Amino acid sequence: MRKANSANPSLIRDINRSSVLDVMRRTGPISQADIAKILALQPSTIMRIITELLEERLIVSVGQGQTTSKGGRKATLLELNKDGAYAIGVDLNADEVIAVLLDLSGAIVAEVRTDCPSESGPNPVLDTVKQSIEALLAQPTVSADRIIGIGVSVPGKVDSVTGTSVIAINFRDWFNVPIGEQLEQAFQLPVYVEHDMRSMAFGEMWFGNEYDHMLCLGFRSGIGLGLVLNGELYRGAHQLAGDVGHVIVDPDGPPCSCGRQGCLEAVASEKAIHNNVRRYVQQHSLSSAGNRKMTMEELNIRFIYETFRQGHSDITAMIKEAADYIGKTLCDLVRVYDPQAIVIGGNVLASSSEFLDLVRSAYQSMQPNYADDIPSIQPARFGEQSIAIGSASLMLSRLFKPSGA
Ligand SMILES: [Zn+2]
Repeated sequence: MRKANSANPSLIRDINRSSVLDVMRRTGPISQADIAKILALQPSTIMRIITELLEERLIVSVGQGQTTSKGGRKATLLELNKDGAYAIGVDLNADEVIAVLLDLSGAIVAEVRTDCPSESGPNPVLDTVKQSIEALLAQPTVSADRIIGIGVSVPGKVDSVTGTSVIAINFRDWFNVPIGEQLEQAFQLPVYVEHDMRSMAFGEMWFGNEYDHMLCLGFRSGIGLGLVLNGELYRGAHQLAGDVGHVIVDPDGPPCSCGRQGCLEAVASEKAIHNNVRRYVQQHSLSSAGNRKMTMEELNIRFIYETFRQGHSDITAMIKEAADYIGKTLCDLVRVYDPQAIVIGGNVLASSSEFLDLVRSAYQSMQPNYADDIPSIQPARFGEQSIAIGSASLMLSRLFKPSGA
């Protein structure tokens, strides 16, 4: 916790207020007396802050606790008001824009999903993001003055200080795109731009995951890693930490969008699987559940997943090959980072138990003979919405930190 500066009373008030909110977030319903005990603050200080937070409707009374041990009267319990503040979270990826409106408890109040025109350059993409946000702001159940800001996540290299997406190679002509500036101007709300996998890792931590050392692998048309080291997001010297999609795993493998060949992304991403299945379908027929022959246009990742789930042997072999590369890479990363757990999130495949079982099987089989306490592989807490929810939680978390922290 940040140390209070005795020369600055408003900063102290700010720190105390955010500390009270943070205690309530962590504990659930709690009395004023217990908050005072946990924070070692005067009851009068806590009472003043609680009065203020009740007036602002950021917290609510929720009944009474146990009688005190001395037989005193029951204390009123307080908790965060889930409707006290909302944030918008946007997962901007090359396939889709997923935008959610999140309440303070982490529940999605509204969601908009739109195809992303990533092949058309920055302006059409930014227009799609703006339209998604407008649709969320227009829904009637949440008053606009309760929405505290917008978190946006993008793959590639991100400068969170300036709100710039520096480069994202799966988007056409995408260099130094000022996402933060554009959205702040359009909506007059604070905007925070972050790397997609770091957002997912943050969302996992914020909503109750207690791991101080964690790897969050994002698996969809690209592959990336969010690193949590010592309880903090790790960015690296150039904001590029976790760029695991461009680790070469097969020097003779297929070309990659980064200009080299055989990167993990080129052999094992959803895009790589999609490409392999397309080539397969050019030589063999593939039918839907109703036995209708599928066209190339219908051959999306959801259909591929369904075919895999129904046990099609050739499709399963292609997906297993990708899972083997992922499992081996995770095994290598565990040697480097020694995490407590690995979380995998992303799209339809990453959210499926069948795919995760294949990854786990490869990961387990490739462990060295001295390995014990092998970190488990878990699905992301919020499935396909993990990155959008993580983006919104980055903005909600500001309520629990002193301004300027
Ligand atoms: Zn590459």
